[in-house]
Amino acid sequence: MAKSNGHRGDTGEPEDTMELPLLELPGTHTCNDCGECCTYLAVEIDHPTSFEDIEHVFWYLTHRDVSVYIDWEGDWFIEFRTVCEHVTDEKTCGIYEERPKICSDFSWNECERTTRERAWKYHFEKPDQYFDWLREKQPARYDKYTKARRKQLEKRRAQQTEEAEPPAAAEGDVQAGA
Ligand code: SF4
Ligand code: SF4
Repeated sequence: MAKSNGHRGDTGEPEDTMELPLLELPGTHTCNDCGECCTYLAVEIDHPTSFEDIEHVFWYLTHRDVSVYIDWEGDWFIEFRTVCEHVTDEKTCGIYEERPKICSDFSWNECERTTRERAWKYHFEKPDQYFDWLREKQPARYDKYTKARRKQLEKRRAQQTEEAEPPAAAEGDVQAGA
């Protein structure tokens, strides 16, 4: 399980969590010298079905340190690899009592490091990985998307050519300097 904004159907009730000391963790505790769950954030996104949705995933994946994954329940998430400002040098929370609710709801005994299970079923770090997955798993949607994309590129190229070419002189126009 990854630290994410969860599922839309959640009740908002906190799961069982273990309250950890602010700065000192027992050396044997799983969280000791880890801090992994404070190095990213994941936000649930709509399942990409339309041309626009797929273009959005394409756009997300053109960014460094941004990935998209599908979890074991089939829900989609965008993940940003970015370290929280409040992680201490000891890899603990510097604002433990005031930390956001999502942090206090996150249970260390369900995290990937403890369970040794990946949070995701499919993980995309580059557009090609996503498009390969789409072609294999949703071929009809992939075909529809690629056709629409081809049309979009043709239109874009035509517009660029039009902009690059000077307007044709109308019949009867007087040449400058004539
Ligand atoms: S909850 Fe998991 S990821 Fe976070 S610090 Fe503890 S062991 Fe590491
Ligand atoms: S607020 Fe604390 S628990 Fe939450 S991500 Fe930052 S360092 Fe981690």
